[in-house]
Amino acid sequence: MDSQGGQTSPVQPDIGSSSEIASSSSTPRNDAVESGILYDVIVIGGGPAGVAAAVYTARKQLKTLVIADSFGGQSLVSDDIQNWIGDTHISGTDLAKKLEEHVRAYPDMVDIKTEKVTSVKSVACVSSSTPGVSAGVSAGRLCDFEVKTEAGNTYKGRTVIVASGARRRKLGIPGEDQYGGKGVAYCSTCDAPLFKDKKVAVIGGGNAGLEAVQDLFQYASEVYLLEHGDAIRGDAKTFEEIKKNAKLKEVILNVDPLEVLGETLVTGLKFKNSKTGEEKTLEVGGVFIEIGSVPNSEMVKDLVQIDEYGQIIVNFQHARTSHPGVFAAGDVTNDPYKQNNISVGDGVRAALAAHAYLLDRAKASPAEERPHA
Ligand SMILES: Cc1cc2nc3c(=O)[nH]c(=O)nc-3n(C[C@H](O)[C@H](O)[C@H](O)COP(=O)(O)OP(=O)(O)OC[C@H]3O[C@@H](n4cnc5c(N)ncnc54)[C@H](O)[C@@H]3O)c2cc1C
Repeated sequence: MDSQGGQTSPVQPDIGSSSEIASSSSTPRNDAVESGILYDVIVIGGGPAGVAAAVYTARKQLKTLVIADSFGGQSLVSDDIQNWIGDTHISGTDLAKKLEEHVRAYPDMVDIKTEKVTSVKSVACVSSSTPGVSAGVSAGRLCDFEVKTEAGNTYKGRTVIVASGARRRKLGIPGEDQYGGKGVAYCSTCDAPLFKDKKVAVIGGGNAGLEAVQDLFQYASEVYLLEHGDAIRGDAKTFEEIKKNAKLKEVILNVDPLEVLGETLVTGLKFKNSKTGEEKTLEVGGVFIEIGSVPNSEMVKDLVQIDEYGQIIVNFQHARTSHPGVFAAGDVTNDPYKQNNISVGDGVRAALAAHAYLLDRAKASPAEERPHA
């Protein structure tokens, strides 16, 4: 058993065709699919990881359902992505279009639902006396999965690939939600132009915060950079560049934000010095919150192992989670590198691992044990 609870083999499985999977399973795959009962794979997410996973499962002839509340993922908001391999420049919206186009190129194999997933649970677990050899099929734990959505629908799959990415982290202070879109912002690439000639505070001294400061230099009259810790954590070279710009009025460390102040729009930010306890108010017309992201893993929190940051813990070799049959890819996982290209690779890995798992499962589960016949 590996650390994820699955079984490992130094020998890579021979990846067969899905007809092999269908024929050795008790339920002919197409019957299940046509009656809408049981997908081979349910992919949650329409970002780079989810789309890559679905393209690969489709090409393995696995009947796939993609459930995503939108296509494109987090960098949809970027005007100019310069490190998407194969394109020197691409906007987030064009990348999203290409991703959606690619996943829609397999209408026979991929169904798409624009819905928000709320929960995933294992159902119809049966025991198997013949553990699989390569892809994490453990004796006693062959399950199907029920995926429920906010729209009240339930979908069933033999495997699930969670590729639901991440969302921006919030401060959770008074005024933050109230002035959302009225001066409180989370995406400088999208919203910096709205702050022309305004004084703006950027909260967060990591790379995202430094990038926000750079974006705002083009529009704002003054920029304040506020950091919770006692040092700026972002790229030292970028920070040196930023400090040369006269629009950077102050770098304030040890900041404990207390409240976003406003009338119709934001008028200021109240904060406390976490070392001295001294409270201050910055008079600003904008507050950019750049304090990282939160993985969208809530729907599987009771099903798979999750780390202290809410990231799904995966086995990096096979994209397996702690529950056999559930795989994860991209920013929702504990992979430390959150990038479009990495998410695509993760999605491919998860798809191939799900395919290998299904082959093993078909061998491991005698026909009479399957509940769907
Ligand atoms: C502003 C910004 C700029 C960036 N720029 C770059 C860049 O230039 N280059 C780069 O390589 N990386 C960049 N990144 C990082 C990159 O966007 C991420 O690493 C990448 O998007 C992760 O892909 P993903 O598919 O794992 O998740 P995401 O892109 O987060 O996609 C998640 C998908 O899941 C869907 N989803 C989420 N929850 C649910 C749910 N409950 N039910 C159904 N669907 C759900 C979402 O709608 C979305 O389709 C940037 C990130 C940000 C925020």
